[in-house]
Amino acid sequence: MRMNRRDILFAGAAILGAGVLNTRPVQASQLPTVELGTRTITTLSDGNLVLPLSFSFPDVPQQELVAILKANGLPVDRLEPDCNITVLRDADRLVVFDVGAGPNFMPSAGRLPDSLAAAGIDPGEVTDVVFTHAHPDHIWGLLDDFDEVIFPDANYHMGRAEWDYWRAGDTLEKTPEARKSFVIGAQNRMAVLEDHIRLFNFGDEIVPGVEAVDTRGHTPGHTSFAIHDGSQSMMVLGDVVTGLVSFEKPDWPSNSDQDTNQAIATRLQVMDRMATDKMHIVGFHLPNSGIGFVERKDAAYRFVAG
Ligand SMILES: [Zn+2]
Repeated sequence: MRMNRRDILFAGAAILGAGVLNTRPVQASQLPTVELGTRTITTLSDGNLVLPLSFSFPDVPQQELVAILKANGLPVDRLEPDCNITVLRDADRLVVFDVGAGPNFMPSAGRLPDSLAAAGIDPGEVTDVVFTHAHPDHIWGLLDDFDEVIFPDANYHMGRAEWDYWRAGDTLEKTPEARKSFVIGAQNRMAVLEDHIRLFNFGDEIVPGVEAVDTRGHTPGHTSFAIHDGSQSMMVLGDVVTGLVSFEKPDWPSNSDQDTNQAIATRLQVMDRMATDKMHIVGFHLPNSGIGFVERKDAAYRFVAG
């Protein structure tokens, strides 16, 4: 791997006996893991977000919302969704899905570099980075504290629809003021990638055994990924469903979805399929490392971790 300033800093800390790498909170042996044929899928934490409740669900019955939060043991004035980065390892590849928030989005997020170190993963080993979409908590982590690319030797893959949307000349002016920083942040990262990004279409096989699934709505080109091995499959959902509230109320509008109606239609369709097929899922913002299953509950669903 190429050395960059960040490696040199870590190397310096080690030489000084600072013990930086020995004090990480997560050990590799504790990582949640799913074996899928010859592949191993796990998640690494990028920390969590902290969002005011009013940001997330402004247009739903607030008493009902609070009751759901209480019943799930969650705070009632804010949402604190986890951020789970999926890592797929097989004989030939080490694939990372999204790169987290990086150092400049929220103080509670951007922990992926620490989690990689704790798991004993050298960023230079990563062969492929696959993006679900280009919101800050998924792409801003491309650049580290020194504005260097976090995975220096990886191939980067993004859906063509997502790439074209954020790169379009009129996206910034069409975006509400409160979210213009999302556009600028995405465009800055994309400028770094533009000479070597590999764009895919829905339905494409991006790397062997990884299929791009159209789940637009949360963003215009939002993509989930079905990982196949023989007769077994699992689904990296991204932000199709961003928390337990949306399992109980999948048809409630969430303010984090850019096209609310399309996102609801996608969520209902995907959750129905996941529950019917009993497919293992990873949710970027779901609790307990995001790995589990969708089960039917009354007229809606529930998340079963594991
Ligand atoms: Zn997200």
